Amino acid sequence: MRALLLLAALCACSRQEDTMKTYSADGRLPIEKLFEAQDTLLRSGRWEVETVFDDRGLPSRVFRTKKKGPALWVLAGIHGEEPAPPNAVAQNIEKFDALARKGIPVVLFPLCNPVGYVKAWRYPDSEGRSGTGHSVGDSDHLLPDKAGKPRAMKATSAQAGALTAKVLALSKDYPPVLSVDLHEDDSIAKGYLYSQGPKGRQDPAAKAIIAEMDRLGYPVQLTGQTSFDEIIVGGVISGVQDGSVDELIAAREILVDGARRPGPGGKSVVVVETSTMKAPISERLRVHDAVLKMLEKLYQETNSSF
Ligand SMILES: [Zn+2]
Repeated sequence: MRALLLLAALCACSRQEDTMKTYSADGRLPIEKLFEAQDTLLRSGRWEVETVFDDRGLPSRVFRTKKKGPALWVLAGIHGEEPAPPNAVAQNIEKFDALARKGIPVVLFPLCNPVGYVKAWRYPDSEGRSGTGHSVGDSDHLLPDKAGKPRAMKATSAQAGALTAKVLALSKDYPPVLSVDLHEDDSIAKGYLYSQGPKGRQDPAAKAIIAEMDRLGYPVQLTGQTSFDEIIVGGVISGVQDGSVDELIAAREILVDGARRPGPGGKSVVVVETSTMKAPISERLRVHDAVLKMLEKLYQETNSSF
């Protein structure tokens, strides 16, 4: 009987591994390697980790420094078909501990959408690479429309409900000074940024990242429109109400169960987009690596300018 149970347990295990084996055709790291790298943060004693939600056995986690205060926020892996950001975070994980060692409060969401990552699906429920579905970062249920009413009555998914609730909870002890959300885009052949903070296109952190992409020889889409009809000027899009977690992090006012509350009020909220159209993952990693190297300077400059 015991042998039978053991056999049944082994079968269940291998079945789960089969279904959760990471898509690899685009050169992304297996999800186990990302978790392994993220876990090294816990050895320094400077970090705490929480599971934001568990999706079919895979955790979406948030790491935060034990030191609280005006913080640097970094998010990666909201969209599962965009592998460079969570890979760059894993490969540069020691940089985050270096920031903690210097006394900078940090909130790190290293892989927001683990099921999307292993399947290379944009959304956990998209049934395909870019099919329709619900983003784990959907924040419309907390954001007011132009008339001050909630844009949605509830979160679009359990994952989005959990992620946005965690963002709001952490923003009290770790008010976001600089938030950088790393993404990719498969509809434009060049890179660009969103700036959701109060300085919009004039945000010095956004300008510095565009300048760094240019210095690296990475092509930047300086003008034109995204596939969502958003206007790009100087490589930067600002002032969009896209219901993203970045809009939530920047929001000065939010709606919780219909009641107005102060929002996280991020000072500088930047979304980096590299293009998956022509550049191999190694090229895109160079950009995300470079942005991670800039974080300390950008955080300090943003912190001292407000
Ligand atoms: Zn994306």
